[in-house]
Amino acid sequence: MTKYIFVTGGVVSSLGKGLTAAAIGTLLENRGLKVALQKFDPYLNVDPGTMSPYQHGEVYVLDDGAETDLDLGHYERFTHTQMTRLNNLTSGQVYQTVLNNEREGKYLGKTVQVIPHVTDEIQNRIRQIAEQSNADVLITEIGGTTGDIEGLPFLEAIREFALVVGYENAIFIHLTYVPFIKAAGELKTKPTQQSVAKLREIGIAPHVLICRCEQPLNKELRQKISMFCNVAFDAVIEEKDVDHSIYEVPLLLQRERLDDLICKMLRLDAPRGNMSHWQEIIRKIIAPQHRVRIGVVGKYIELQDAYKSVYESIIHGGIANDCGVEIVKIDAEEIEQQGAGQILQGLGGVLVPGGFGERGIEGKILAAQYAREKGLPYLGLCLGMQIATIEFARNVMKLDRAHSTEFDASTPHPVIALLDAQRNVIQKGGTMRLGLQPCQLAKGSRAAKIYQSELIHERHRHRYEFNNTYREAFEKAGFVFCGTSDNGRLVELIELANHPFYIASQFHPEFRSKPHVPHPLFQGFISAAHAHIHHRPI
Ligand code: GLN
Repeated sequence: MTKYIFVTGGVVSSLGKGLTAAAIGTLLENRGLKVALQKFDPYLNVDPGTMSPYQHGEVYVLDDGAETDLDLGHYERFTHTQMTRLNNLTSGQVYQTVLNNEREGKYLGKTVQVIPHVTDEIQNRIRQIAEQSNADVLITEIGGTTGDIEGLPFLEAIREFALVVGYENAIFIHLTYVPFIKAAGELKTKPTQQSVAKLREIGIAPHVLICRCEQPLNKELRQKISMFCNVAFDAVIEEKDVDHSIYEVPLLLQRERLDDLICKMLRLDAPRGNMSHWQEIIRKIIAPQHRVRIGVVGKYIELQDAYKSVYESIIHGGIANDCGVEIVKIDAEEIEQQGAGQILQGLGGVLVPGGFGERGIEGKILAAQYAREKGLPYLGLCLGMQIATIEFARNVMKLDRAHSTEFDASTPHPVIALLDAQRNVIQKGGTMRLGLQPCQLAKGSRAAKIYQSELIHERHRHRYEFNNTYREAFEKAGFVFCGTSDNGRLVELIELANHPFYIASQFHPEFRSKPHVPHPLFQGFISAAHAHIHHRPI
């Protein structure tokens, strides 16, 4: 029978609920338990696919093509679980289902209400994941912050659910914030008390409090939180800011004996796991043998979360090479103003990630040109591959004003264009080319060597593609189409032959990299970047 952990958050947003839920997953998996994770998002969008990165950060894409919350990326990176579109439930989806049911007459004349119809639908999803995954423990993270009006149906649903299955089978973990007030020189517990009070108001009494803090929680503070929040003393857990890496969080929570506590509360008989492989990951991040600087040229550079999986995958590539990576975030528009040489010199490699819209495009093209001409390792992801194509068309093949029709509908050389299948698409949500697709790699290509395979599977999220009308001309000019799909019809991966490392993919490898299984493209990229700064052949 599945046991349930519900993770809520209080006081402020951005406390790292997703990371904490993922880290709990790591610890429980490490004890030999089968874990499943699920995220509830109280907003009304059906999925985050239609939201701007300014609103939402990265959209994380799954094998089945679901466009989901970036926390699912943490879940996949921290555990071995396989996510599907059922693992991310939004209010939008809940209401869509309830309203469809109502139109189909499924409620048999009843008044359709938030309780029980909306809350039942939420509970159905909990049961569905539990059944499908056959997990020992299902961790459900509730997005938003306690006190948000829109989160109430989710909280009511989990309150009822836990009561029905019993508290030896379901626990509530509340992540809260204990701020350090400089002027007073001390940590303050009042926001935590109030946030727990808010939860209790709606009938949820947390079993465990995880306290995010910048300073250690001493015994007195733990006692105070325990007493006034009505939570056992040993269930007040400190989660201090990590010094170096998010991958320290599981170790930190294990030191607080959180996994012991969870197993005790849920009556799970699972011995403590060995975390030495995880410790080795941290060692390579904290004290690597080598170091390199990688430039990421994007347009959402000021946002922490917009390129989350890209940044993580670069770190993983570093782990694979025992190489610490300093990520230099570069605004593409700055390259437009100052020139690529000024900004990119001294870097080990440059990466152009995915993106939409025209702003910063010319700066990215300049970065790709600089990397190609100077032998600087280049990795292009999705839009980064389209950029490499446009740059090559303009500057090597001299195709004047070559462009993607996404940015210039009347370009004389549409080297990147819409697929026929995309031409008549009007609805925006969920209509891109999405999810896992096979890709055949060319024998003898650098890519095949890097992947050590000729058949790979990668995740997609794009509308535009390489325009095959130009295929031969590109090939003649030295552009190598080293990865294709659909019997060679779609270009998935390109490389340049006379360059130490110039690879770009139409797919998103960053969605399939984990700290313990770094993605081959990132591994190869960091290795090339390291060779580049030491003037060594790869
Ligand atoms: N805007 C481009 C397209 O739709 C690239 C998308 C991306 O980088 N994810 O094809």
